[in-house]
Amino acid sequence: MSTNNNDWTELEKKVYMQLAKRWPVTIVRGKGMKVWDDKGREYLDFVAGIAVTSLGHCHPVVVDALTRQAKTLIQMSNMYYTVPQLQLADLLVKTSCLDRVFICNSGAEANEGAIKLARRYGKLKLDGAYEIITTHESFHGRTLATTAATGQNQFQEPYTPLPTGFVNVDYNDLDAIKAATNKLTCAVMLEPIQGEGGVNVPSDDYLRKVRAWCDEKGLLLILDEVQTGIARTGTLYAYQQYGAEPDIMTLAKGLGGGVPIGAFLAKERACVFKIGEHGTTFGGNPLICATAFDVLSYIIKKDLASHVQHMGEYLRSGLNNLAADYKIIKEVRGKGLLVALQFNAEIAEPVVLTCLEKGLIVNKVKADVIRFIPPLIVTEKEIARALDIVGKVLKERQ
Ligand SMILES: *Cc1c(COP(=O)(O)O)cnc(C)c1O
Repeated sequence: MSTNNNDWTELEKKVYMQLAKRWPVTIVRGKGMKVWDDKGREYLDFVAGIAVTSLGHCHPVVVDALTRQAKTLIQMSNMYYTVPQLQLADLLVKTSCLDRVFICNSGAEANEGAIKLARRYGKLKLDGAYEIITTHESFHGRTLATTAATGQNQFQEPYTPLPTGFVNVDYNDLDAIKAATNKLTCAVMLEPIQGEGGVNVPSDDYLRKVRAWCDEKGLLLILDEVQTGIARTGTLYAYQQYGAEPDIMTLAKGLGGGVPIGAFLAKERACVFKIGEHGTTFGGNPLICATAFDVLSYIIKKDLASHVQHMGEYLRSGLNNLAADYKIIKEVRGKGLLVALQFNAEIAEPVVLTCLEKGLIVNKVKADVIRFIPPLIVTEKEIARALDIVGKVLKERQ
């Protein structure tokens, strides 16, 4: 098979499950902020594998950790102690308000674990309560339970009947959570900022008020930081900006710098699992944990969280300048390097496609919203280049 782009497109049609609507490029290589397609064309990557390659593509920290650990020990089992897993767990505990960690393979799996832990807690401590309140426009994953948690009809409708025990209410609406709370409720599960829902930033006091309500009612607060965690929003964890600590927190995307990993963390009082009640074969293996440990250590050592704050401000102010010139832009929103451009019309698809043709990868997150989630190492120069391309694309559309 030659590496002609059309051949891969044809092959995908034939052999791959037709689920992803793909953009017309085949990416074969990446370095730092850039990737290259099979025709040798270069792209500036402002999607980063969906907020995953936090240090950019093939960063030496990632490559070195992977190769070093691959030569040492790749997989054991959670039936044995392994060093990288415990080092990573220790670092996560030291840098967060949580006390214990369980490492798995993805965001959905982290949320499944968090949901199971909350149900266990409900069974043991809340008189058998099992309902979890989540929000509309949330995204928590693609398993059946996390689909039930995800308050978006497009994901739920094809799979009904879904697992019971989830109530979806409006985001950024404390009264809706209060109204949905009853004696069966064991937890409230939220993203500090909704990512896949279109980068929806709640009021500054929302999380704090939800926290107070959970305290009043004895409920667990689960924060899904799969997207917002690991410095993405300008602090290591987004909850740190909202003055509200979760009882359970989930992580995934940016944690491994590109390798598949998820984790859920909990406060000691919520750690009610008994031996054997949850588990994983691959989760927490030495290869992935050694890599995530080095990535997280690097992010902390280089204080990339502060860098993200500055770069996020630079990006948003540049986008606001564009908004002054182009009336098609309705709003610029986000925190840190989780940023969205909301249009007045459903033009996200052609905008993303034209950006791609001009060498910039950005993400369509809604029909009328594009999202910027570049690697955390992005510089002003690269942001200026991206803004320039977006500006040209919008100008051409006038
Ligand atoms: C991406 C995402 C998930 C799902 O993660 P997967 O690794 O795709 O399973 C869950 N929650 C949030 C907030 C996400 O952004």
